[in-house]
Amino acid sequence: MKKITKAEATRAKKLLDRYNKQTNAWLGRDSYTCICCKEKEVKLLMPHDGIRDLREQQQEMWRDGTVFKVFFGYGSKLDMDGFFMGLCDDCALELEEKRIVVNIGELIKRARKYDPK
Ligand SMILES: [Zn+2]
Repeated sequence: MKKITKAEATRAKKLLDRYNKQTNAWLGRDSYTCICCKEKEVKLLMPHDGIRDLREQQQEMWRDGTVFKVFFGYGSKLDMDGFFMGLCDDCALELEEKRIVVNIGELIKRARKYDPK
C-alpha cells in the first residue's frame, strides 16, 4: 500500500470537515422556553458550526439554564416518545428550595455522611 503524506492527510481532513459541515446542518433549536415558568428562554451559548449530533442537544452549552432529554417508557401514554426540554436556572433553584427536585450533589454529600449505627 502506498503511504500518504502528511500534506495529503491534512487536505483529506479539511475536505472531510467541509463534507461534515454541509451534511450536518444544525436543525436543533437555539433556544427553549422554560417548562416551569413558561417565560424565560434557555439559549444556546455558543454559535453553531453545524456538526453536532441532534440527538444530544442536552450536551450543548445553554445560557441561564439547561436542556435535558426525557423518554417515556412502558406504562405511559407517551411510551417510546422522547422530548428535549428547557429549564431555567431560577426555576431549578426554586424547585430545589421547595424540595420538588433533588440536588444530586447534596444527595451524594448526605449519603457519604450517613452512618447507619
Ligand atoms: Zn423558568
